[in-house]
Amino acid sequence: MCGIVAYLGSREAYPIIVKGLQRLEYRGYDSAGVALINPKGELNVYKRKGKVSELVAFAKDKDISGHVGIGHTRWATHGEPNDVNSHPHYSQTKDLVIIHNGIIENYNAIKEGLKKRGHTFLSQTDTEVLAHLIEDIQQNENMKLGHAVLAALNQVIGAYAIVVMDKKDPSTLVAAKKGSPLVIGIGAEDFFVASDASPIVEYTKNVVYLEEEQVAIIRLGHELRIRNLKDKEITPYVQKLNIEIESIEKGGYDHFMLKEIYEQPRSVLDSMRGRLHADTGDIKMGGIVDHEKKFEKAKRIIFLACGTSWHAGLVGEYLFEEFARVPVEVEYASEFRYRNPIIYPDDIVIAISQSGETADTLAAIELAKSKGATVLGVCNVVGSSIARATHGGSYTHAGPEIGVASTKAFTAQVTVLTLMALHMAKVRGTLSESRYRALLYEMESIPSKIEVVLKLNDDLRKIAFTYKDSNNALYLGRGVSFPVALEGALKLKEISYIHAEGYPAAEMKHGPIALIDDEMPVFVIATKGANYEKVVSNIQEVKARKGKIIAVVTSGDKDVRAMSDHVIEIPETDEFLVPLIAVIPWQLLSYHIAVMRGCNVDQPRNLAKSVTVE
Ligand code: GLU
Repeated sequence: MCGIVAYLGSREAYPIIVKGLQRLEYRGYDSAGVALINPKGELNVYKRKGKVSELVAFAKDKDISGHVGIGHTRWATHGEPNDVNSHPHYSQTKDLVIIHNGIIENYNAIKEGLKKRGHTFLSQTDTEVLAHLIEDIQQNENMKLGHAVLAALNQVIGAYAIVVMDKKDPSTLVAAKKGSPLVIGIGAEDFFVASDASPIVEYTKNVVYLEEEQVAIIRLGHELRIRNLKDKEITPYVQKLNIEIESIEKGGYDHFMLKEIYEQPRSVLDSMRGRLHADTGDIKMGGIVDHEKKFEKAKRIIFLACGTSWHAGLVGEYLFEEFARVPVEVEYASEFRYRNPIIYPDDIVIAISQSGETADTLAAIELAKSKGATVLGVCNVVGSSIARATHGGSYTHAGPEIGVASTKAFTAQVTVLTLMALHMAKVRGTLSESRYRALLYEMESIPSKIEVVLKLNDDLRKIAFTYKDSNNALYLGRGVSFPVALEGALKLKEISYIHAEGYPAAEMKHGPIALIDDEMPVFVIATKGANYEKVVSNIQEVKARKGKIIAVVTSGDKDVRAMSDHVIEIPETDEFLVPLIAVIPWQLLSYHIAVMRGCNVDQPRNLAKSVTVE
C-alpha cells in the first residue's frame, strides 16, 4: 500500500522526494525514509517511524544533498512500524538500497537460503530480503543491476512495486512492478518514479505506467528502457497526464476529506457528463457499448467490491433490481476469490474500486474471468490495474481522492451505477418511458441538490458537537437507504474511532435494540417513500427506549421532526436516488466529530487508501 517516490536528474532530489511522499502519505504513514547519493558518491539513508514530517525534522541538520534518491512511506505488513523496519532497506554490503510496496510471499525461504550464504539481516521485513537477493545475484552472476533485479524477481512470489538504487552507479535507477502501481515521469533531463502521478504532475506530463512484470532501467542521459520478466525488450508507451496540480492540493480547505465532500456536486456531474442526455432520453456509456447484447440477456449481475465500494454495490443492487428487473448479488471480493463461485454464461460481473488497484478485487476479477464471465469495471483511476483487467466498464470521474475515507468516490460510483441500471432498463424495456425519462431529469438535478445539503454544514457541526463524545452509534435505513446507513457507520468509525453499526431499520429489533439507552445516538434516514411509515415506527421504537434520534428527512417533513432530537432536511428526490443526497450529511457529521475528537481525518490510524495487499 505504501508510497514510493524516486528522482534521477540534475535537481536536488530530497525536496522533490519529500514533497512527493507528502502527497502519497494517504497510501501509508507508519514510517517514512529516504536514501540519497550525494555528489561525493556517499550513500545517506534517513528513516523514521511516523509521518513524513518526523523524517523531515530528523533529516534537518543532515546531509540531504544529491541528484538521485529514493523515498518511501510505509504501511507495514511484515514487522512492526519502527525505524529499523522502515524503508529504504540495504543489501548485505550496503551498496544497494530498495523501496518496496507489496508483499514478497516466499521471503522466508529466500531469507533462509541467503542466511546459509552468510547474509545477515537487520529488519523483519520481506523487503530487505529482496535487496540482499538482488545483490547476491549481481555479485555471483556478475550482472548489471537491471539484469540482477530481473533475475531476482523471477524467484519471487508475491506483489511488488520497487525501486532499487546502487551507490556504485548513481546515474541509474531500476524500477519494477507486479500487482502494485508504478508510474515513471519523463522530464526534459530527468526522471521521476512514483506510486501514482501526484508527485510527478508538477514536473512533467509525460508518463509511462509500468505494466505487470515489467522492469524499467532508468539511466541519466538515456532513453527509458523496459524489459519484461522474460527479458524481452518492450517499447515504453508514453502517455500524457490529464490531471492538474490544483486537483491534488487542499485548495484552502483544512483537510482533503472536507474538500472532497464539497467537490461532490462537481464530481457527480462529471461522472454523468457526456453520458446522460435527459432531453433525448439517451444514456451513452462508451465502455459498455460492446456489451449491450449481454445487458439485454443478462440473467444476473454480480458486484465485486470491498469497503465503501461494496456499499456502492449494495445501492446498485436496489437500482438494478428495481429498474432493470435483474437479480443481483453483491460480494465481498475477499470472500468471492476464495470460494468456488458459480458463474453462468449470462452473468455480468461488475467490479467496483476507487483506486482500481484493490488486490482482493483484482484477484476476484481474475477468478471470474477464468470462469468465463464478462467483467466490467467501475473505477476512478484511469489506466489502473482493474481498468486494464476488465473487458469494459465505466470510469467514475471523481478526480483524485486523497482523503483515506472515501466520499466523492462513493457518490461517483453510485452515479455511474445508476446510469448503468437505467441504461440496462432501457435496453430490456423494464421501465415505462415516463418513469425512465423522469429519472433521467431527476439525475440531472442531483448536483444542485447536493449543493443544498452542503449548505447545512453549520447545523451539522452543531449536531456533531452534541455527539462527539459518544462511545457508540447506530445508523438505520431501509430499502436503498440501508446501504447508506452502512456507509454512514463506516465513515464514523474510520475517522473518529467511535464504534458504529449500520443496520436495516427493521432488523434493529433482532439485536441492536439492546444497545439503546439515553446516550445512544441513532442516525436514521427517514425520507419520503414506500418505507416511510415503517421507518417512523422504527424511530418510535428507539424513542421508547430513550435513544437520541438524528434524522435525515425530506424537506418540509413534520412527523419525524416531532419525534426527533435533530432533523436534517434534504431536498425531495426520487426515492431510488436518495443515497446520492442522504449520504452527504453523514459524511459531514463524521468529519466534524473526528476533527472535534482531535483525530487525523485524512490519515486515520491503521488505514491506507489503496489496499494493494490482500
Ligand atoms: N511488505 C513491506 C513491509 O512491510 C512493504 C509494505 C508496504 O507496501 O508499505 O515493509
